[in-house]
Amino acid sequence: MDAGGLDSDGHGFRNSKEMWREEIGLGEEEEKDATCAPAAKRHGWYQKGISYWQGVDASVDGVLGGYGHVHEADVKGSESFLKPLLVDRFGSERRHLVTLDCGSGIGRVTKSLLLKHFNEVDLLEPVRHFLDAARENLAPEGDMKEVVHMPVNFYCLPLQEFTPEAGRYDVIWIQWCIGHLTDDDFVSFFKRAKVGLKHKGFFVVKENVARKGFVLDKEDSSITRSDLYFRDLFKQCGLYIYSSKDQKGFPAELFAVKMYALVCNKPKGGRNKRLDYTPALIKQSH
Ligand code: SAH
Repeated sequence: MDAGGLDSDGHGFRNSKEMWREEIGLGEEEEKDATCAPAAKRHGWYQKGISYWQGVDASVDGVLGGYGHVHEADVKGSESFLKPLLVDRFGSERRHLVTLDCGSGIGRVTKSLLLKHFNEVDLLEPVRHFLDAARENLAPEGDMKEVVHMPVNFYCLPLQEFTPEAGRYDVIWIQWCIGHLTDDDFVSFFKRAKVGLKHKGFFVVKENVARKGFVLDKEDSSITRSDLYFRDLFKQCGLYIYSSKDQKGFPAELFAVKMYALVCNKPKGGRNKRLDYTPALIKQSH
């Protein structure tokens, strides 16, 4: 990726390599040869992200950055993307489905979307007070014997340190958290996580997208990547886009949001056979 980018103070970068060099130190290749790897800088990048979220209210408004009112449109958009995919990949007969909600926050997506379509949901969230709130928000009501859709495991870990149990998941859902990962951790996360998918399993990435290049948020250590940037990384992960869709109905001042369904084997013909090259409507938030 050689497109330039910006940070939240309006400072420009010639390309992502330059930005990563500033944020986490040397590039991957140089790191191998360096006598002193810049582990402290990388640690600082992740720590800043976690500290930011530690200071945020464990509420829908909190995890949505003050835009709690987009929750319903978000869930509706996700549902219309997910439902046909489940039929396409797993058939219309009911079967036992298992998913993982990555960067789950307070369990908003699990509660309003995933528990409706999956029998078991695991949650992965590095910020303790969010995960505790998720556990409370998702506590089953009534007779446990009746519960056929339930949260199962609550992992208090960041994505870059997580390796799933082999073959456990039909779907791995990653919404509004992958921007916290550096490019190399992004790629190694997906490579490890593939092992956690069942046959015909897939990933869903739902994320803000920048118009071009990237936008670095210095406050919470995250980057918003462009569609091209994402496609380049997915390729490096050995993943194929099975289908993608733009989220509709969000306020104009927000970034455009895209959903990608990603599979491990080259699809014979995905859901949207047309290649989705049309740039999304661009609404920058900073
Ligand atoms: N996906 C949830 C929460 C979005 S807020 C939802 O849509 O409601 C972003 C979440 O990413 C926060 O819960 C934050 O703690 C989490 N996060 C931050 N750094 C992360 C990392 N390195 N790995 C996984 N999650 C991270």
